[in-house]
Amino acid sequence: MELHGVGVGRGVAVGRVLTMPEPLPEPAEQRHGGDATAEKAAVESAVAAAAAELQERAGRADGAGREVIEAAIQMAQDPMLADDVSARIDAGSTGERAVFEAFRSFQDQLIALGGYMAERAADLGDVSQRIIAQLRGVPVPGVPESDTPFVLMARDLAPADTALLDLNKVLGLITRDGGPTSHTAILARSKSIPAIVGVGADASIDEGTRVVLDAASGVVTVDPTDAQVADAEARIAERAAQAAAPITDGALADGTKVPLLANLGSPKDAANAVELGAEGVGLFRTEFLFLDAQTAPTVEDQQAQYIELLKHFPGKKVVVRALDAGADKPLSFLNDAHEENPALGLRGLRALRAKIQILHDQLQALKNAQDVTDADLWVMAPMVADAEETQFFVEYGKNLGLHTVGVMAEVPSLAVVADQVVQLSDFVSIGTNDLTQYTLAADRMLGTVAAYQDPWHPAVLRLVKLLGDAGAGAGKPVGICGEAAADPQLAVVLVGLGATTLSMTPAALADVRAELATVTLEQAQAKAVAALAATTAAGAREAAAAA
Ligand code: PEP
Ligand code: MG
Repeated sequence: MELHGVGVGRGVAVGRVLTMPEPLPEPAEQRHGGDATAEKAAVESAVAAAAAELQERAGRADGAGREVIEAAIQMAQDPMLADDVSARIDAGSTGERAVFEAFRSFQDQLIALGGYMAERAADLGDVSQRIIAQLRGVPVPGVPESDTPFVLMARDLAPADTALLDLNKVLGLITRDGGPTSHTAILARSKSIPAIVGVGADASIDEGTRVVLDAASGVVTVDPTDAQVADAEARIAERAAQAAAPITDGALADGTKVPLLANLGSPKDAANAVELGAEGVGLFRTEFLFLDAQTAPTVEDQQAQYIELLKHFPGKKVVVRALDAGADKPLSFLNDAHEENPALGLRGLRALRAKIQILHDQLQALKNAQDVTDADLWVMAPMVADAEETQFFVEYGKNLGLHTVGVMAEVPSLAVVADQVVQLSDFVSIGTNDLTQYTLAADRMLGTVAAYQDPWHPAVLRLVKLLGDAGAGAGKPVGICGEAAADPQLAVVLVGLGATTLSMTPAALADVRAELATVTLEQAQAKAVAALAATTAAGAREAAAAA
């Protein structure tokens, strides 16, 4: 039997499945015995105990893990939620039921907001389970304990659990729910744990059954044959050998240089990227620094962060993106109006033009950082639609004294007029995540249309070719900074289509570096030609492999 889902990374795992316990059953709609004060006191101490337990877990977690647990602790103690719970107890609900309902109502609000906020709803559900477990005096649902390594199967992992996964024990992850941007996926990627998410709500595997998990193809083989296990083990050994190989700069087999850069969301991640061989930064997502900010960050605040980042890359290229707010990444100080279709709304450069002082301050902060560090700073705008917007942004940046200013290609219209854009811009960076979403008209956060979100689609590849050809004609660099660059086979095709650099999550650098070294530029171009002629994404993948 096989299960199919969305693979995270390229890893392979072989092991026996342990399943995470199902969530606690919903508390009954009972009324309390009349002592509201006692119910409230019990809830209060349960919240405190849950927060203390999370705090203890946060202390054992690292980096990204600690941040998500700390966010969960804040949610557990949110005063608005506490007021809602109290009001429900006053109206007669038991403490358990009041906690359940108040959290569910808050979760529903987050889900209605969609995108990034909807994904935080799972974190809130986890916090409510912890409080209810405290009230019931039962163990908190969590990662199963085992003396031997295992593949963990769960509905969807809560942040507190993923953050604490013992890498020596968890060989791989399978989740029934969750998409490529769920916590499970983000943390699996950052910890290089092979994972397959979204295998379907009804999927189940008997406890202790052996599986082969192949993240590259998104397939879980349940009860594999000995030959399948041997094949998987050979691939695991091959990957280990690759990871141990000395880190070299990105290059094709014929010596053609393809600089491999990192996608980063915080200066704190820079040291790890350098360690993994990043030759610079191809995408610094500045909006990640300010997701929780209520007011626009000052020039000084921003400057300090940019300087911290740039100091890690003396003499190296660092591409910083202006705030990309809206849709899945709303910033309250930039996007305050309700929109029916936020992905098609006032996001990216459009939002910045509507609040020009914010753009001005950010570019000023970047210019100040450029002047006091030795990195080669490039600045680009997100969600740029055409030549007029390109001209606006490039001129604005240059007038403030920025040396190298460019645009992201994420909206199909920009690719269609690529010949005009490259005359105006110093460089173009292709954001394949959004370019795919807009080309196929499929919301990148929506599980039901996830099959459309495939950058192998020939329509997306043809737009990349338009951009690559235009860049080559004008002598302007055209990089890739979407997730597509992290898929080694696709990375080869993208280079064949004219990409001059590839930027990705640092954990993917080793796989892409190894794959690039196996082909010449001529071979990469032949694969690209084959993929462009296909009629489906799957066909393009096959055609490129066969070429
Ligand atoms: C993209 O759209 O491909 C991209 C790199 O930007 P983000 O994922 O941050 O929207
Ligand atoms: Mg984008």
